[in-house]
Amino acid sequence: MHEVSVMSSIIESVLEELKKYNVEKVEEVHLTIGEMTFLGEDQLSFAFEILSKGTLLEGSQLIIGHEDAEVKCRSCQYQGAPDRLDDEIYHSSMPTLNCPKCGRGVELTKGKSCLVRSVKVVEADVPVQG
Ligand SMILES: [Zn+2]
Repeated sequence: MHEVSVMSSIIESVLEELKKYNVEKVEEVHLTIGEMTFLGEDQLSFAFEILSKGTLLEGSQLIIGHEDAEVKCRSCQYQGAPDRLDDEIYHSSMPTLNCPKCGRGVELTKGKSCLVRSVKVVEADVPVQG
């Protein structure tokens, strides 16, 4: 499960960041994941629960925000939402890496994030550099 190793490094970096502050208790961890990371939200939450046990993050809530994919075309300078392909099996639409305007290959500019936006602790909000 890919999510476990991802979550393990996320928790590690959050704990490292929290060392700088006098934190008693962590209430919420805000995470942003891009749709192009293909990380499962349920798997992430599950991994968070397991991996946070025995750490400062135990009992805190993981709040997951989403980042939609955005692309940039070098051929026609298009920038914005990607072309999407409907997936009938999963009832979702998958972004493609073809330009919606000219059909050429595009560069992914957004949607690959997997980072902690902020951590809510008992005393104050702690900004985390992502
Ligand atoms: Zn284009």
